[in-house]
Amino acid sequence: MSTFQELGLNEDLINAINDLGFENPSEVQQKAIPLLLEEEADLVALAQTGTGKTAAFGFPMLQKIDVNSRTTQGLILSPTRELCLQITNELKLYGKYCKGLNVVAIYGGASITEQAKQVKRGAQIIVATPGRMKDMISRRLVDISKIQYSVLDEADEMLNMGFYEDITNILSHTPDDKSTWLFSATMPKEVATIAKKFMYDPIEITVGNKNESTSNVSHEYYLVNGRDRYLALKRLADANPDIFSVIFCRTKRDTQRVAEKLVESGYSAGALHGDLSQNQRDLVMKSFRNKQIQMLVATDVAARGIDVDDITHVINYQLPDEIETYTHRSGRTGRAGKTGVSMVIVAKSEVRKIKSIERIIKKQFEKKAIPSGMEICEVQLMSLANKVHNTEVNHEIDKYLDNINELFKDTEKEELIKKFFSVEFSRFFNYYQKSKDLSVSDSRDSGGDRDYGKQSNDSRYFINVGRKDGYDWMSLKDFLKEVLDLGRDDVFKVDVKDSFSFFNTEKTQQEKVLAFFTDYKHNGRFVNVEVSENKGRGGGGRRDRNRGGRRRSDKPREERRSRRSDSSNNRSERRPKRDDNSKPRRSGSPSERPRRSRRK
Ligand code: ADP
Ligand code: MG
Repeated sequence: MSTFQELGLNEDLINAINDLGFENPSEVQQKAIPLLLEEEADLVALAQTGTGKTAAFGFPMLQKIDVNSRTTQGLILSPTRELCLQITNELKLYGKYCKGLNVVAIYGGASITEQAKQVKRGAQIIVATPGRMKDMISRRLVDISKIQYSVLDEADEMLNMGFYEDITNILSHTPDDKSTWLFSATMPKEVATIAKKFMYDPIEITVGNKNESTSNVSHEYYLVNGRDRYLALKRLADANPDIFSVIFCRTKRDTQRVAEKLVESGYSAGALHGDLSQNQRDLVMKSFRNKQIQMLVATDVAARGIDVDDITHVINYQLPDEIETYTHRSGRTGRAGKTGVSMVIVAKSEVRKIKSIERIIKKQFEKKAIPSGMEICEVQLMSLANKVHNTEVNHEIDKYLDNINELFKDTEKEELIKKFFSVEFSRFFNYYQKSKDLSVSDSRDSGGDRDYGKQSNDSRYFINVGRKDGYDWMSLKDFLKEVLDLGRDDVFKVDVKDSFSFFNTEKTQQEKVLAFFTDYKHNGRFVNVEVSENKGRGGGGRRDRNRGGRRRSDKPREERRSRRSDSSNNRSERRPKRDDNSKPRRSGSPSERPRRSRRK
């Protein structure tokens, strides 16, 4: 492991790096920076999103250009306006001590004359989207005939988006003796073609395996009937109270529709797709960054620009047409050293695609069942209990306490706790008690799946550690196996939430598990394990269905009814609604910041 100094960066850059708080160069930075500083070479670098590619080309470029000259010396092409702006901002931060540096962003949807004016003032580096760049070249508003360094960032995506012609056109206006640095997450043939065509004997560096997805991401799939997709999505959201997610749909229309339905159901959701105006897209992204939006529903193209580090879940509402796109989707989570989950909702007809994706990402999916209503009730209840437990008292409340205490003077603590939590629990319980089981069994690996048949022999546990403590399902499983001295398959159905988790063992292990965790401390904290009421998934739902839960054919009518009641009665949004189209509550979840106007 080397330091930024050892990579050969100058003092101005080191100072900026210190300000940014970067401690060590990432792998792609370690490999690319010294090479680019020392040689005038062409480079092909393959690395996943979130691995720090911007700095990998940005630092060398900043160090090599002449800031005393006003000539444009570096050109960076990137697929979307959002990425273009992000790169520009990052470069400005990296180069904050490079006196005289001028980095200009060029992209569609904004005034071309204003951008031309900025370029004219002397931009040593231009960061551009291909379409607008070509436009400006043809109008002679930029001169890139003297550039020394060109970067093709997210090359695979630019080609995916059909920018091949534009890129060819743009590069034909650049000198032959420049260096070209190509960065890409994957290496489809198109990228290889472009490398061959525009580069001379490029040096190739690879971080991780080609096309392999980030190791911080675990992959799960949920098999449902196609028509239950939306209900499944809501359950996945409800089962993860602290979800902060991007939901991918295949078309703009579906994207808009799913987002609208979620909003109608009371979730904090928003849509991001190409039919929105730039201004609308900016607003949605701003709300998402501020976490006013918990679920961002997006198309693949629009989501390219999303650079938000703490996305907990990526949900594939539908699988992408091109399987390779899955890597880009799942790369939205698990960034900056955090763990993430990529979930896929699949219908039976698509389940084959899971296998193909596994081959590409070189990782296994875990098949999971859509959480049952009662599981969700438990998760929500425990999440609230944890939140209450961790809440710092706000002493502004003191002046009201006399009245509250008076009201509860005859209520025992135990009774009070029961009542307090029933407020939330009842919302979910009333909503979910008649819900059906959404899971469909899968012929792919029946037998290997513990969800069916073996339930009565299992014990399910609640444990008070979760994602916040750095666990994902794999590492928690490893941890449990180790401390409990259990075998490979003895801990299963590990389900990690934000601040707590669930897992199963055979019932025969229950005594051992509970005995071990009676006073076990980990990192100075008591780890608490209790037996959970739910045995796994699906069970409750199946029983409910037998009791005469809603028939499927009722659903469209119910949906329509809910819509009507939504528009005719605003307050209904705050109450749990009975039909499956709504979200069971507004209060108690992390999204429950006071509702802010989205027209800010
Ligand atoms: P990529 O282009 O590979 O998707 P980015 O260049 O956008 O990744 O970097 C992802 C995030 O990581 C950014 O927020 C960036 O500021 C941060 N970052 C980059 N390099 C480092 C580093 N060496 N240490 C810590 N954070 C870094
Ligand atoms: Mg990037």
